[in-house]
Amino acid sequence: MSFKLDGAHDAVRRAVREFGEEEIRPVAKEHDESKEYPLDLRKKAAEYDFVAPSVPEEYGGAGMDPISRSIVTEELWRADPGIGSAIGSAGFGSSMILEYGDEWMKEEWLPRITAGESASFSAISEPAHGSNVAGMETTAEKEGDEWVIDGNKTWITNGTVADVGVLMAKTSPGEGHRGITAFLVPADSEGFVPTKIDNKLGIRASDLAEIQLNGVRVPEENVIGGVDKGFYQLMEFFAAGRTSVAAQAVGAAQGALDAARDYATEREQFDQPISEFQAVSHKIAEMATDVEAARSLTYRAASHVAEATDDEAVKLASMAKLRASEMAVDVADEAIQVHGGAGYVTDHPVERFFRDARITKIYEGTSEIQKNIISDRLL
Ligand SMILES: Cc1cc2nc3c(=O)[nH]c(=O)nc-3n(C[C@H](O)[C@H](O)[C@H](O)COP(=O)(O)OP(=O)(O)OC[C@H]3O[C@@H](n4cnc5c(N)ncnc54)[C@H](O)[C@@H]3O)c2cc1C
Repeated sequence: MSFKLDGAHDAVRRAVREFGEEEIRPVAKEHDESKEYPLDLRKKAAEYDFVAPSVPEEYGGAGMDPISRSIVTEELWRADPGIGSAIGSAGFGSSMILEYGDEWMKEEWLPRITAGESASFSAISEPAHGSNVAGMETTAEKEGDEWVIDGNKTWITNGTVADVGVLMAKTSPGEGHRGITAFLVPADSEGFVPTKIDNKLGIRASDLAEIQLNGVRVPEENVIGGVDKGFYQLMEFFAAGRTSVAAQAVGAAQGALDAARDYATEREQFDQPISEFQAVSHKIAEMATDVEAARSLTYRAASHVAEATDDEAVKLASMAKLRASEMAVDVADEAIQVHGGAGYVTDHPVERFFRDARITKIYEGTSEIQKNIISDRLL
């Protein structure tokens, strides 16, 4: 197996980095402070195929391989995790539509998402059930040729900006994970009530919402895959989702490292740049080594997930997510340390990277859950 990226991967990285430096970086602080969702940037990113880049060309995407997709995510987050998250998550749920959806769903929604015209959501978590997905209480009951959905979802990325999404509900309550179904739910459905959550620690440009589902009716053709098959379908995408979060973490860490390196060469104390103190230069060397190790593990997980979602891929994805997310928070913390007092205020991007990186330890399964998954496959 070769671990060298090819010319196509380098070209993708160059393109996203240029977009990040020219379009995202200059407005990153502003969006963090205003918490404004970057709709224009999402549309612009779509022109370059950076939105839902793995969707095949026939539905308007770029058909990127998993490593290229990881590079896109990594570079968007390196520029700024908040805006990177808004662009990178604009097609949430599209893999589920692609793999299990009917042809009409793909034709109607995927081109709009890849064009940046619409965003989508993936609604799994509920107020009382996060890590325990199988415990969800939102129900869907069949009435004639419609399903009626009632319940509450929370922590839903794109909840107030999406036009459509994939929503998981219990169709056979009492059956645990065996009774869950995925539905395609348009956000303009009657009874679909999103409320923005805007007091986040980080990734503030990204949209987050709680969603009430008050008798939302969808036709039976909106079932994705099969009735009661949703949990198994979901499990197939967790490995890809976790690899994507690992790439987010690598990007955030690299952004913090870049800022620390620049600052260390500019800032002088005792009549010399602080980078000339071994305590600082070794810190930077350790940070760079940690980022590179997490990057390698992330690409390795991505290459496995591309081939299968077998136990090995699931284990590697969880390992990549666990290591990269813990590393990102540590590296951003060290980047603040390199900045001294200047790192503790918003004048420099490192405090933002620190706040933004923190989410990668929580969503798509917390670090503790990743350890459960890994140990289950070892013991
Ligand atoms: C910014 C953001 C965006 C999000 N986006 C989405 C989204 O788009 N769609 C969506 O569906 N969800 C989303 N989530 C929800 C996210 O996936 C959950 O927050 C996460 O899975 C944890 O669930 P919880 O918050 O209910 O925590 P809990 O499950 O209540 O966990 C609390 C603590 O208990 C620990 N714990 C729980 N169970 C175990 C166990 N079995 N073993 C060991 N430790 C355990 C956890 O690790 C954690 O430390 C998002 C969350 C945030 C904050």
